[in-house]
Amino acid sequence: MATLGIPSNTIAVLQKYNFTFQKKFGQNFLIDTRVLEKIIDAAEVTKEDCVVEIGPGIGTMTQYLAERAGRVVAVEIDRALIPILEDTLSAYDNVEILNEDILKVDLNRLAEEKNGGRPVKVVANLPYYITTPIVMGLFESHVPLSSITIMVQKEVAERMQAGPGSKDYGALSLAVQYYSDQKIVANVPPNCFIPRPNVGSAVIRLTRHEKPPVQVKDEKFFFSLIRASFNQRRKMLANGLGNAPEVPVTREEVKGALAAMGLPETIRGEALTLSQFAQLANLLA
Ligand code: SAM
Repeated sequence: MATLGIPSNTIAVLQKYNFTFQKKFGQNFLIDTRVLEKIIDAAEVTKEDCVVEIGPGIGTMTQYLAERAGRVVAVEIDRALIPILEDTLSAYDNVEILNEDILKVDLNRLAEEKNGGRPVKVVANLPYYITTPIVMGLFESHVPLSSITIMVQKEVAERMQAGPGSKDYGALSLAVQYYSDQKIVANVPPNCFIPRPNVGSAVIRLTRHEKPPVQVKDEKFFFSLIRASFNQRRKMLANGLGNAPEVPVTREEVKGALAAMGLPETIRGEALTLSQFAQLANLLA
């Protein structure tokens, strides 16, 4: 099967199967061999690796992954793509296609079954409409994984890297930074896809920390606190958290904890660093 990263080959496959793009599934297929190579290089895929690919589409990146990885498990929701994938990937015996919704797959079980519980690498050109639930799901469920190399909306990649004081800083930034190191590997313009998305894209590699950079007594409480802090981002933290039903703390308790940390009681959540959030959560837990 010819390399699908070349636009004419992708178009030939789409025509052969009379494929109709489904907007609801965030289908924008890559048609740039240089971008594909950059993703695979950044993911540092080797024959030792079991790679989980989310949303293989017609199998463009899957072909590259199959060449480099020991094993590839690709999870695709769109049933119409399955016969196409069987065709475009017929030359590889190390690829398995699962016709499932990635948000419903038990990834811990998958890592256990396909890789004996050893860490997998996740590589994907993500469907943008579910970027946050996918990334949060991978981290929060503690799936054994070493890295996640993904194409996301450019703005989302920036949010993942943002720090206090930036308008992009929020719950996603803190969660990603708690669990991983991040590096933007490439900026990718709309003309590298078919059809063209109406936003810019970026490839980001998230390398999982062996140990989080801050110590947290109760992770669940820590993340509830962070989410509640940014739900009311214009409010002072003490008021926002004091009113948030999901965090059982009073305004006075928050003020007391902030004072113990040497912070003004008027501070907003968007001004706190990751380690200050950890300290606050540990004081309030
Ligand atoms: N990997 C291909 C490429 O780079 O050309 C396609 C990437 S496209 C941006 C996203 C893919 O994810 C589509 O094939 C889409 O059908 C699939 N997808 C969307 N929602 C999904 C879900 N919940 N679970 C699994 N796959 C999904």
